[in-house]
Amino acid sequence: MRVNQPGAEYGRSTQAIHAGYDRDPATGALAVPIYQTSTFVFSSVAEGAKRFAGEESGYIYSRLGNPTVHVLEQKVAALEKAEAALAFASGMAAVSAVLLGLVRTGDYILCSKGLYGCTYGLLRLLRERFGVDYSLCHMKDEQEVIHSLQPNTRIIYVETPVNPTMELVDLRMIAKVGKERGIYTVVDNTFMSPYLQRPIELGCDLVIHSATKYIGGHGDVVAGIAAGPQKLMDEIRMTTQKDMGGILAPMDAYLLIRGLKTLGVRMDRHCENAQKVAEFLCAHPKVAQVFYPGLPGFPQYELAKKQMDGFGGCLSFELKGGLDAGIRMMNRLSLCKRAVSLGDVDTLIQHPASMTHSIVPAEERRKMGITDGLIRLSVGIEDVEDLIGDLEQALTFA
Ligand SMILES: *Cc1c(COP(=O)(O)O)cnc(C)c1O
Repeated sequence: MRVNQPGAEYGRSTQAIHAGYDRDPATGALAVPIYQTSTFVFSSVAEGAKRFAGEESGYIYSRLGNPTVHVLEQKVAALEKAEAALAFASGMAAVSAVLLGLVRTGDYILCSKGLYGCTYGLLRLLRERFGVDYSLCHMKDEQEVIHSLQPNTRIIYVETPVNPTMELVDLRMIAKVGKERGIYTVVDNTFMSPYLQRPIELGCDLVIHSATKYIGGHGDVVAGIAAGPQKLMDEIRMTTQKDMGGILAPMDAYLLIRGLKTLGVRMDRHCENAQKVAEFLCAHPKVAQVFYPGLPGFPQYELAKKQMDGFGGCLSFELKGGLDAGIRMMNRLSLCKRAVSLGDVDTLIQHPASMTHSIVPAEERRKMGITDGLIRLSVGIEDVEDLIGDLEQALTFA
């Protein structure tokens, strides 16, 4: 398939639509064909041998590469300003392939304080069974990060905004600390999407996405992406992707390509709606606290403006009546769906302590800032008046 990588001078929305694909060379099809095939026929034994030897480009077997999946990888690489990207069966397949691809027994991973629940689970597994240790660090400033490093630190692993407390980590600072010491900096960019934040542009090495969230955007695919330098991506492709095998199916790649085409308009609307919902909640007498980077009172508001192109679609909040009031309110919602996941066009609401972060021991959760009463809201792209109306009626029961 002909790959068309529009120049870096194009804007993000143009890239999201056009990068990685011009037209189908066989038919001229505008939409990316779904190459629903497990394997590819060689015209001769010699051709097959050359492809296996890497002497000739071309497809071999879909676990090693598929044209539809390749278009998605090219698109995300262009959006993240990365040399290359790899698609995976889930966000966690991407996280595990990257971490296992980069670490060796005896290494150490320094993580932001507050992690996606299953990433935390994977780190515990690495510690208990494979001799790779980790610790969590607030990463408030450079000194705190430097003091938390160990001589055997291989990776600094960051989520920002941190899920679900929305605290930010300064990506330029992290990139500098990593670069000066030859430590890989890996950023889970799921909450922002490449439309709102590009860690590689800020100096970090690798980016990971749960493409299930904003990249897909429609709540119908589970998928993951990693992006970074060609050399590292090739290494991961030929080891932990190929041999652990968590690859993305062509049909799912197609759905993500389709989702990406509207990334810009969706993200603009997510940000606009989340801002209005955050302001509504802030002003509500039953609400104790709202955590959203777009609120001027947010402690890291200035950092948010410096490293993000928008404040995102997710926020969290606590009610004055605590957990019980939160449960009463959540059970009365009709438009906002009680569901985990985020980044869908539909508004989703969940309770981290009993759902996404129940795997994290209670004491560790408290250290991460996840109180039992905290509620996370992924604001969708519905008419914001309807969302606020639904929250308002449910809050009368809180
Ligand atoms: C959802 C999520 C993941 C895991 O992705 P899956 O696609 O569910 O495997 C990882 N990191 C963050 C921040 C997420 O929100």
